[in-house]
Amino acid sequence: MDKFEYKVELHVHLDGSVRPQTVLDIAKSRGIHMPHENIEEFKRDVVVDKPSTLEALLKCFRIFMPVIAGCKDAIYRVAYEFCEDSAKHNIKYVETRYCPHLLANTAEKREYAIERGNISPRDVVDIVCNALEKGSKDFNITVKSILCGMTHRPEWSMEIAELCKEFKSRGVVAIDLAGDDFEPGVEPDECLHKQAFKVAYDAGIHRTVHAGENGPAEGVKEALEHMYAERIGHGYHVVDDENLYQKCLKDQVHFEVCPCSSIKTSSVSTDLSKHPLLRFVNDGANYSINTDDPVVLDNNIDDDYSKCKEMGLTDEQIIIGWYFIFL
Ligand SMILES: [Zn+2]
Repeated sequence: MDKFEYKVELHVHLDGSVRPQTVLDIAKSRGIHMPHENIEEFKRDVVVDKPSTLEALLKCFRIFMPVIAGCKDAIYRVAYEFCEDSAKHNIKYVETRYCPHLLANTAEKREYAIERGNISPRDVVDIVCNALEKGSKDFNITVKSILCGMTHRPEWSMEIAELCKEFKSRGVVAIDLAGDDFEPGVEPDECLHKQAFKVAYDAGIHRTVHAGENGPAEGVKEALEHMYAERIGHGYHVVDDENLYQKCLKDQVHFEVCPCSSIKTSSVSTDLSKHPLLRFVNDGANYSINTDDPVVLDNNIDDDYSKCKEMGLTDEQIIIGWYFIFL
């Protein structure tokens, strides 16, 4: 696979890319008890090794996120090492995404951080931008970032849109909505996510939305119609709605396909000949190939490229993501 000297990656979660050893190191230095003595034990708990569910995959984050969240050095290290790991796989351009609130520790009701402290979502974005800037330079790679709202936390989304605006000059290129597939059908004026995406749109911030992953095609439709999405995270189930799919083809909506992830979350059939990616390829859709969450899926970009090869894609059909970077 080394002939892919100029790889590009558009859908990879920063907090889904932590090195197991880094989690163990930081846990030790912060005095946080982990039930794992070594990488093997850590992986036994964290890696989803057979087709499971999106819910199970998201649950794995609960094991290691408390070690990173609310710790300035940990956040910096994870982001810096992300640059090194991407460069090691010959990735030349990557957009990594994360939710600043999940790594902060200022909120009364914290999702992951063990103790309340003074690292705000804004501080998190500043730390990550610093690390990505340094890492980009040191490892000769271009690393940009995308800030994620979370489907279950609509009250965060507007602040995230504002952070995207503020940190645009520091390499934040877009806003995303992540987590479980969001529920379609909520009116835009009652939906804080939709309002935040409108703010992003008005400010010229790019938009991508996780939709149609394990949820219905309707989610893709909402993302396009009410959230101004230019790219769709996953989007596999768009093929279930022929009219919508044809419209996406016509408008060249970009699908961020994550082959290994799609199978492990059981979002698609294990029968690769039925994978929506093959329809995307054959129908001339706009797509890219990505890893999603390497620490949980135990994959790297070469594994996802291999999966594409198994499906019969040519090198040119795999390396196609360059056509839709948010820059
Ligand atoms: Zn994702």
